Amino acid sequence: MKHTYLKNVVTLNLDKDKCVGCGMCAVVCPHRVFAMEDRKAQIVDKDHCIECGACAINCLAKAISVEANVGCASAIIRGWLTGSEPTCDCSSGECC
Ligand code: SF4
Ligand code: SF4
Repeated sequence: MKHTYLKNVVTLNLDKDKCVGCGMCAVVCPHRVFAMEDRKAQIVDKDHCIECGACAINCLAKAISVEANVGCASAIIRGWLTGSEPTCDCSSGECC
């Protein structure tokens, strides 16, 4: 089951005019935030974005922006790297 982290605070943005329809964002996103329609990406589930940054890194057209390195996913990854307890500012109590 996917959890919504906080509603309407995700920094993810898509510029459809720049999208060339390669589909990589839909492939790499672990939470199925993107879907392809008429050879363009569209955001179908923005509130499930964990701001991991994978879509923006893989978008060669630079159609996606997201402030990665904030939020739950980054807190967990930082915890792995430093061997510390992961903490983030999310108050859901479901991520870390
Ligand atoms: S990765 Fe970028 S160019 Fe490719 S479908 Fe997604 S938004 Fe469009
Ligand atoms: S930042 Fe990560 S979770 Fe959010 S849309 Fe991109 S790939 Fe999906």
